[in-house]
Amino acid sequence: MEAKAILPPIVPGKIVAIGRSYADHARELGNEVPQEPLLFLKSPSTLVGHGDTVWLPPESESVHFEGEIALVVGQRLKRATQEEAKVAIWGVTAACDVTARDIQRGDRTFTRGKNFDTFCPLGPCIDDALNLEELQLTTRVNGEIRQQGRVEQLLWPFDFMLSYISRYLTLEPGDVVLTGTPPGVGEIHHGDQLEVDLSFFCLSNPVRALKP
Ligand code: ZN
Repeated sequence: MEAKAILPPIVPGKIVAIGRSYADHARELGNEVPQEPLLFLKSPSTLVGHGDTVWLPPESESVHFEGEIALVVGQRLKRATQEEAKVAIWGVTAACDVTARDIQRGDRTFTRGKNFDTFCPLGPCIDDALNLEELQLTTRVNGEIRQQGRVEQLLWPFDFMLSYISRYLTLEPGDVVLTGTPPGVGEIHHGDQLEVDLSFFCLSNPVRALKP
C-alpha cells in the first residue's frame, strides 16, 4: 500500500458532490430515497488540506459534518460508460462535505450552504491501491464515532456515479467526486476535532468559529 501523492499538489478544476447516496442518510434528513444521483458542485475555494482549520462562518447557526469517500479522476470522462469510468478512477481519498444546514434548507440550491471557504477538507493522500469495494468510512468528532459507512450501502456503484455525472458535465483529470455521506450527520462547533477515517489513512481537521 503506497500513498500516491500528498494533497494539495493538485487543485481540482471542480468538485462534484452526490447527495443522498446512502438511503439511510436521505431518510434521516426527511428526504425521499432518490431514483437517480442528486448532483451539486462545491467550489475549489472550499478546499483545505489535512490539519487545516475548518472555519465556522457567522452566517450559519448549524454547520454539519458529512464524512465522505472522495474519488480522484485520472482521465477525461465525457458521456462515459461504466466500464470507461471504472478505469478512470485514479485514486481515493477522504473528504468532509461541510454544510451550513440551516442555509442549505432555506435555499432552493445548495450553493450558499455548501461553499463557504474551508468547507471541503480533503486528504491526506490519494491512494490508488485500495480495493474500492471494501472501503469503510468512519467519521469521528472529538474521538467519538458519529458515522460509519460501507461501500455496499451506497445506492450506486462508483463507476455508475462517474458515468452518470459525465452525461451532464465532463470530468477532467484531477477533478474530485464526493460520493455522499452515511447516516449520522450532525453539528460541529468551535473547538471540535473532526476526523474522517478510511482505515488506511485519516483526515483530521480542527474546527474554529470565524468571528463576524
Ligand atoms: Zn455530502
